[in-house]
Amino acid sequence: MHDFQQELDQLAAQSLARTRRVVAGAQGPVLRVDDRDYLSFCSNDYLGLASHPEIVAAAVAAAGEYGVGAAASALISGHSVAHEQLEQELAAFIGLPRALCFSSGYMANIGIIGALTGPGDTVFLDRLSHASLIDGARLAGAEFRVFPHNDAARLEQVLARCKSPRKLVVTDAVFSMDGDLAPLAELATLCERHDAWLLVDDAHGVGVLGPQGRGSLAHAGLTSPHVICMGTLGKAVGVAGAFAAGDATIIEWIMQRARTYMFTTAHPPLLAAATSASLRVIARDQWRRERLVELAALLREGLHGLPWHLSPSPTAIQPLIVGDNAVARALMQRLREDGIWVPAICPPTVPKGTARLRISLSALHTPAHLERLTDALHNAARDIGAAPSNIANDHFSLARPDRAQPAQRVASLHPDAPP
Ligand SMILES: *Cc1c(COP(=O)(O)O)cnc(C)c1O
Repeated sequence: MHDFQQELDQLAAQSLARTRRVVAGAQGPVLRVDDRDYLSFCSNDYLGLASHPEIVAAAVAAAGEYGVGAAASALISGHSVAHEQLEQELAAFIGLPRALCFSSGYMANIGIIGALTGPGDTVFLDRLSHASLIDGARLAGAEFRVFPHNDAARLEQVLARCKSPRKLVVTDAVFSMDGDLAPLAELATLCERHDAWLLVDDAHGVGVLGPQGRGSLAHAGLTSPHVICMGTLGKAVGVAGAFAAGDATIIEWIMQRARTYMFTTAHPPLLAAATSASLRVIARDQWRRERLVELAALLREGLHGLPWHLSPSPTAIQPLIVGDNAVARALMQRLREDGIWVPAICPPTVPKGTARLRISLSALHTPAHLERLTDALHNAARDIGAAPSNIANDHFSLARPDRAQPAQRVASLHPDAPP
């Protein structure tokens, strides 16, 4: 029998074992863990909606109307009035003809890529794409090629040479560990020119970017029949689940073929109703997006003079690039002692030499919260001391875009992949 305990011991010995912390009560800018309050800069609840009373009330009312479970796959009898309504609202919100709900973003990406491609087809991935996109390409059995981060010119070279019957370009719209944006308009133009589909993963843009929070496509003013937008509903939207939106025919095809849609129980109707309520709050509460912009400016100002720099990010994800793994971990530890929770992200989650604190902002943070964080970081910098991180942002030379990457190698470069 395989000795998993030995493998676990090895992980622990290399400081790679993950632990969970048990959070009491609702999500918010302050989290209660082990009878202590922590100021949280670690959540993706960017707009502070995960425990919004109006959204909670919608969930409770829908529980009364629909009960708790959906009881069957959407294609059998699990697709409720609440789901149907949410899909129509999502399509209108994103500005594409039709939308289809999934139980999670991970499942959506696996299902969409598997429906659109198979053996003989090619998937082109940005080097920093999310793990679920990489897994989707791998599971689909398609060939896949990695292009350097946000490098449309390199992508065009490989697209132009590709003879596959179906070509799919996939990218995060907002990169999850950097907060920077993909050049969506440029990518869509390339896809139109080379007869490829573009799957945009807008997990971190929906609710945050664009007029009324309509996401990265609206932010870029982009409409193209080649674009499929995937968005998640558990981050800024504050609930759970995900959706694919696009041209009506392609969404129908995904509904007919995505295995993670067909072979799973529909997510509870009460969550669909809560999501509908959340979309209304998102469109209405412009102040939440304005607050994020103000907070990001305050953070930048407050961190001035530190030996580390924030990477440029127009979103709620504000990574402080520290460089050295041990320094990043020590900083996280120091902040935690001060009652502040910021995750240190080290390789292989991010490229070597770019260990960082991934500071994520919420519209419910106050200027006083930010001051606590920036004061704590200045104190920590004095105590820990560190050489300035002068690693350039261009650290993407590992991937050769002109050759297919063996799946294992890509996975090992990725954030959430096992080491
Ligand atoms: C979180 C995330 C997902 C997965 O979404 P879930 O709903 O959490 O499963 C997919 N893509 C990106 C870029 C993400 O950040």
